Amino acid sequence: MAKQEQDWHSRKLWTILDILGYKVPVYRATHPDPTLCGEYNRKTVDIHLQEDHRGDLFAELDAFWHESLHAIEHIVLAPDDRMAERQVNAIALGQLNLLLNNPEVLEFLIKQLHELQKPKDKSNAG
Ligand SMILES: [Zn+2]
Repeated sequence: MAKQEQDWHSRKLWTILDILGYKVPVYRATHPDPTLCGEYNRKTVDIHLQEDHRGDLFAELDAFWHESLHAIEHIVLAPDDRMAERQVNAIALGQLNLLLNNPEVLEFLIKQLHELQKPKDKSNAG
């Protein structure tokens, strides 16, 4: 998936992911190849997501999750340990299905993550 960044048109910054301290911009953009759902660029360390998924919400989520996994494996793994495309496909699909088919897990994760994000109240300590 080594398309050139200039192939992405009308890009708009959607968010900047913080992955272990690395900042990974995520852009929504249009690529002339409608079969290309997204791209993680190892050189520029950013993600482009195809803007138009023709109403296929799962394809849109899968593209985001898939490209985020590429960013994670690029940041976390040594070059010799990089995941193959089929592994990224499988893990992204499996994780999205886990969340989709087990909504209680997603609710639990959101609740616990919000707890972790809360500033610690030191006035109650000791
Ligand atoms: Zn990929």
